[in-house]
Amino acid sequence: MTNAKTNAFRKRVIVVGGGVVGLSAACGLQGLGYSVTLLDCAAEPAPINGELRPRVSALSPASMVLLEQLGAWPGDASRIRQYQDMYIWTDGSFDSVQFSATELAKPTLGAIAENDLLQYSLQQRAQSLGVSTLWRSEYQEIFQTEDLVSLTLTSGERLQAEWLVVAEGAQSGLRQALGIRSQGWSYQQNAIVCSVSWGGVTANRSGAESAASKALAVDRTAWQRFLPSGPLALLPLASGDSSVVWSLEQQEYERLSNLNDADFLAAFNAAVGEAVGDSAVAVGKRFGFPLRLAQAEKYLAGRCFLVGDSAHSIHPLAGQGLNLGLMDVKGLITAFEKGAEAAHLQAWQRKRRAKTAEMMMLTDGLYRLYRLYGEHGSSKAEVSGFVGFAKGRGLRALVSAGMAAVGAVPLLRQELARLAISAD
Ligand SMILES: Cc1cc2nc3c(=O)[nH]c(=O)nc-3n(C[C@H](O)[C@H](O)[C@H](O)COP(=O)(O)OP(=O)(O)OC[C@H]3O[C@@H](n4cnc5c(N)ncnc54)[C@H](O)[C@@H]3O)c2cc1C
Repeated sequence: MTNAKTNAFRKRVIVVGGGVVGLSAACGLQGLGYSVTLLDCAAEPAPINGELRPRVSALSPASMVLLEQLGAWPGDASRIRQYQDMYIWTDGSFDSVQFSATELAKPTLGAIAENDLLQYSLQQRAQSLGVSTLWRSEYQEIFQTEDLVSLTLTSGERLQAEWLVVAEGAQSGLRQALGIRSQGWSYQQNAIVCSVSWGGVTANRSGAESAASKALAVDRTAWQRFLPSGPLALLPLASGDSSVVWSLEQQEYERLSNLNDADFLAAFNAAVGEAVGDSAVAVGKRFGFPLRLAQAEKYLAGRCFLVGDSAHSIHPLAGQGLNLGLMDVKGLITAFEKGAEAAHLQAWQRKRRAKTAEMMMLTDGLYRLYRLYGEHGSSKAEVSGFVGFAKGRGLRALVSAGMAAVGAVPLLRQELARLAISAD
């Protein structure tokens, strides 16, 4: 095993992008003994206090372990909520799949944490490991030879290293500069992201306790509802509120984004339906994110690696984008631990592209199935604009039967659960 520390000359790595993925790579590689310089065009992450930030991620158990191993798990546990149950449903009483940590013999299904909290905690760890950080810095040009990568900054400074990690998000300029094409498409959907507070109702609005609300508390369950208009996810927050990720076709996205809070809450409560057994009474500021599927044709170009959203973007319906990025980093650390020989790096690329393709097939497949269902099969007016789909009852029945079958067959449920919780 090559340890960069034992070399007379410490090998250098440049990481471009100080989001959660880039900072994880910086901490991991610095920890192996490489000399890492991280560059980001944004300001240095600041400590997080007060109200929870709206942008959160569901971390898989594998991502939680990685962050712990990097020594970067956030110290402030009061801002993180672990969840024990996952409940996926459509609009019929039997169209549901439910998983619990207990039945999967896991201590937890995952944790919901603010992206800013994770980033700040990683930045603190990077600093303590001695990573050299350049915040508010931009590059101008990249150039690589067989042995070295050079990055010229807009300040005129030139960085040189043996390796460069591209972690600058979906709109990566370096991906383009390296001549790597990214293939995919826009979903023509946007996600509304916001937090909601609950009224504390224990029974559903028709007065009777629903089977789901009886067993599953809003504060420890990740909920996902497949609506004709698109998937709606509820993630439990440490405050007892929920983070909402509501993916919507363009027209409906614009309509709901422009509603005042009271009307938005009414539409949201109608969309969530009875299963949650509670009603939202307040909503925070709403943010919008365009949704895309994209995969870079390669993750390795000479001495440069693509990780995280620079390498791939997926629909957020399974909450796996960041988890995939963190697993890119985990694999890269292992390849460097083995010596970063060409064979290790090629194996890393093959495995990561295959894992991403698997997750893309799952999320895109689910998206398409429920889109068809929405176009042909809704029985209820969940959200105005989706009323009166009279035809296609057969398809709706098929989807319902599919959900019921997944729910009933242990192996199928386990496979879905494995994909949902362990983007390894
Ligand atoms: C609505 C929504 C909900 C989601 N929910 C989940 C979830 O629950 N779980 C999950 O796993 N994933 C989720 N995702 C996906 C997840 O947010 C992304 O996959 C993840 O944030 C990507 O991290 P990254 O570090 O690769 O990129 P980013 O977070 O985009 O970070 C890129 C960094 O690079 C910097 N940068 C950009 N350009 C430059 C430049 N030219 N020079 C220098 N620096 C640059 C930026 O300032 C930034 O710090 C969700 C996505 C969306 C849209």
